Amino acid sequence: WGGNTYEWSEDVKSTLKNIFKIDSFRPKQLSAINSTLSGQHALVVMPTGAGKSLCYQLPAVVKPGITVVISPLVSLMEDQVRSLTNKNIPAMLMTSTSAKEDTNTALNALKDKNTNIKLLYVTPERLAKSKRFMANLQKCHADGRLQRIAIDEVHCCSQWGHDFRPDYKYLGILSNMFQNVPILGLTATATAHVLNDVQKILNISGCLVIKSTFNRPNLYYKIIEKPTSQEDCLTILEKLLKYRYKGESGIIYTNSIKDSEDLADGLRKRGLRVGCYHANMEANSRSKVHLKWHEKSFQAIVATVAFGMGIDKPDVRFVIHHTISKSMENYYQESGRAGRDSCRAECVTLYRMQDIFKVSSMVFSSVGRLDHLYGMVKYCLNGTFCRRQQIAEHFDEDWGDADCNKMCDVCSNPNTSCREISLELHCKTISSILENAEKQDTKLTAQKLLDAWFLKGPVILRHKGKEPNFSRSIGEDVITFLLVQGYLIEDFHFTAYSTISYIKKGPNMDSIGDVNFVLKMELRKFTEFH
Ligand code: ADP
Repeated sequence: WGGNTYEWSEDVKSTLKNIFKIDSFRPKQLSAINSTLSGQHALVVMPTGAGKSLCYQLPAVVKPGITVVISPLVSLMEDQVRSLTNKNIPAMLMTSTSAKEDTNTALNALKDKNTNIKLLYVTPERLAKSKRFMANLQKCHADGRLQRIAIDEVHCCSQWGHDFRPDYKYLGILSNMFQNVPILGLTATATAHVLNDVQKILNISGCLVIKSTFNRPNLYYKIIEKPTSQEDCLTILEKLLKYRYKGESGIIYTNSIKDSEDLADGLRKRGLRVGCYHANMEANSRSKVHLKWHEKSFQAIVATVAFGMGIDKPDVRFVIHHTISKSMENYYQESGRAGRDSCRAECVTLYRMQDIFKVSSMVFSSVGRLDHLYGMVKYCLNGTFCRRQQIAEHFDEDWGDADCNKMCDVCSNPNTSCREISLELHCKTISSILENAEKQDTKLTAQKLLDAWFLKGPVILRHKGKEPNFSRSIGEDVITFLLVQGYLIEDFHFTAYSTISYIKKGPNMDSIGDVNFVLKMELRKFTEFH
C-alpha cells in the first residue's frame, strides 16, 4: 500500500505539502492512507507520537464527504480540532458536555449536503447514547457522504487491552450498519491478542493491520535498583539531575500524588529546580508548571501519569520512573516522551520488589491488569536479554538480528557475570513456610515471607533449614520471579484504609522441577551507570 500509483496519489502529495505543511511521510503513514482511501477496513498500530492522526485527517481532506472520528479523550480532540481549524480544515467536536448550539450545528452537518465540515469528532458515549446522532449519521450514509469512520485508541474495545472502556463495545454495530464505509482503527497497543479481539468486536476480522516499528533507536534503557529509603532515592535523583543530566530537561514519574509532592519537595531542598504536576492541581497551576519546564526554568517535572497529554517538548533528555508503570504499554508511552528530536535520551527506571505491591493493590480489581503489571515487572527483572528486544517482543514485533547498538544496560554491559539459582529446593522451603503460616492462621506479605525465609521475624514462622546463601535483595528477585511466573500468587485483602497483598502458593509451586533463575544483579547498580 506504500506505492504512489493511485488515482488520488497526486492529491495526497499536494495536500501533505500545501495544507499540512509536511515534507514527507513517516513510516507506514502512506500505507494507511492508501488502504483507507481504497475503502479497506484497517487497523493502524503506531507508537504514540508517530503520527496516527494524519492517517485519517489527510484522507478526510482529499475526498468529499465527512469523516467521523471516535475518540475517548476530549482534550486531545479539542487539540486536534484547533489544529485543523488553524489549517483551514473545517472540523467539529461533539461530546456529552458540548453546548447545545454546537451539538445542533454538528448534527445538522451530518444531514446537510452542503456542509463544509470535513471531520466530526465524537466520544463513544455520545455515539452510544444519542439516537438523534445515529439517525443523522444514517442519513449521512444514505446520502453517500459518510466517507470513513476512524476509531482512535481502538484497543479500548478489548478487555485484554490495558485501557478497556465499556462504551467502546457499541462500536461493533458500525461495520454492519454502515456498509461500504471503511473503518480505520488506530492504536499504540500492538499485541496480537488485543488486535484479534478488536477485529472480532468491530466485526472486521481479517482486516489489514498496518504496523510501524516500536523501536526507538535513540532511547537508552536502564533499570536501577531502587533503594528502600526515600532519602537514598533522592540522592540518586539528585546525582542524576546535577551531573548526568546537567542543563537538560526531563520528567520524573511517580505513582501517587503524595509521592510526587514529597519527591519534588525533597529535590528542591537539595537545590534542584523542579516542578510538581498531578491531577489534584488546578488547571492554572498545571499550565504554569508546564510552561516553566518548557522554558527551562524547571529542569524536571515530578509528575503522576496525569502529566502526559499535550507534551510536545522535543528535547526531553531523560524520563525517570521513580515507580514502575502499570504495564509495558504505559511504560512505553511514558518513557517514549523522551528524545522526540531523535537525539540520544535516557529512560531510567528505579525498581524494587515492594513497588509491585504498591501498584498491584491499585490495579488488581480490573480484568487482566495484574498480567499487564507483571509484564512490566518481567522487563525490570530480566537482565539477561536486551531491553529493546524485550520491548519489541512485548509488542509482537519481530526483532530478528536487529542491533541495539549498546543502547540499553544489558547490551552495554555484556560481560556482567551471571548468577544462576536453582529453584527446586528453595521452592520447597518457601512452600513449607507458607503451609506452616497457614496452619498458624497467619497470612504472609512478601516481606514477611522473606523474613521467614531469611530466618528473621517471629521464630514460629521460620523454617528449619539454613538461611539462603545469597543476599536478601536476590531473595526478593527470586520471590518476584516465582510471582510473575505464577508459582506464587497475590491474594488481596481489604481493610478500611488500604488493600493488602498477601502471598499464597500457585498451583504449580510444588512441581516446579529444575527451573533456574538467572540473575545479573550488578547491572542494576547505580554506580555502574556513571
Ligand atoms: P499519535 O496520534 O500517533 O500519537 P499524532 O498524530 O498526534 O501522533 O502526531 C504527532 C506529531 O507528529 C504531530 O505534531 C504531527 O503534526 C506530527 N507529524 C505527523 N506526521 C508527520 C510527518 N510525516 N512529518 C512530520 N511531522 C509529522
